[in-house]
Amino acid sequence: MTVFFTHPEFFKHEMGPHHPESAERLWAIQDHLTRKGLLALLDTREAEPASDASIQRVHSAQHLENLSALAPSDRPYRAIDADTAMNSHTLRAAYLACGAAIEAVDLVLTGQARNAFCAVRPPGHHAEREQAMGFCFINNIAAAAAHALEIHGLNRVAIIDFDVHHGNGTETIFANDDRVLMVSTFERSIYPYSGEAPLGRNMLNIPLDAYTNGAPMRDAVQRQWIPALQKFKPELILISAGFDAHREDDMSHLLWSDQDYVWLSQQIVSLAQATCKGRIVSSLEGGYAVHALARSVGHHLDALLCA
Ligand SMILES: [Zn+2]
Repeated sequence: MTVFFTHPEFFKHEMGPHHPESAERLWAIQDHLTRKGLLALLDTREAEPASDASIQRVHSAQHLENLSALAPSDRPYRAIDADTAMNSHTLRAAYLACGAAIEAVDLVLTGQARNAFCAVRPPGHHAEREQAMGFCFINNIAAAAAHALEIHGLNRVAIIDFDVHHGNGTETIFANDDRVLMVSTFERSIYPYSGEAPLGRNMLNIPLDAYTNGAPMRDAVQRQWIPALQKFKPELILISAGFDAHREDDMSHLLWSDQDYVWLSQQIVSLAQATCKGRIVSSLEGGYAVHALARSVGHHLDALLCA
């Protein structure tokens, strides 16, 4: 059984007119999954908000206080940085997005679901312990990993991040925490301009050159990710699933195809079956060309459903 987390509040968070990280992304995913008959195969659930305690495993109390203070009640939007803003729904959506990943971990680790995909907004992987940035406010996957380690007592959690942007937030939160192995690919020298030199011995960062297709990614996955993950023997695999390396997505210069997302998702599912009883929790990060995003999520869910 593959669980699919959603919530109406994810559609209400907006960062301004014409912002690429828009509710249209989730509408496109939902329409595509409906059209393909995939939604009917999924166990769809509404997220519950994460508790402050579960968020504070990876963020400071001050960070949550700052977000509460910044949430606008007197204007439509409040800017956090040049491209990140809050509206009156943002904070609740962020708590729900984090809560989805945490509940997905509970379902997968207790055997109530084989795997799960969280179709959430806002995304999380750029959010650092003290800093909202890059469309992210709360680091959903980091909080899910901390929950698996602290509450379920796991010893080894793998985080796979294939968003085209480096997952700086997750890296800074878990650098040199040997209970976590983070493997990632991202386009070098684009936002957030980090990742070239890993911050910790438990970080396997693969920067990819602009204008390359899926071949260097496939090579890195086969030669570097898979051996490292097999050696680490994760008890759970978490995925920061960004689909913005797609050739149709102008947020980056990588040229991955639909077929690359099929291949990558199947590789991860096979690895999970070999190492951790197929336990995967995947959470949406980027992906801004809405049709390519919707198709890619469909391919990703095909792989999860076949697990
Ligand atoms: Zn991204």
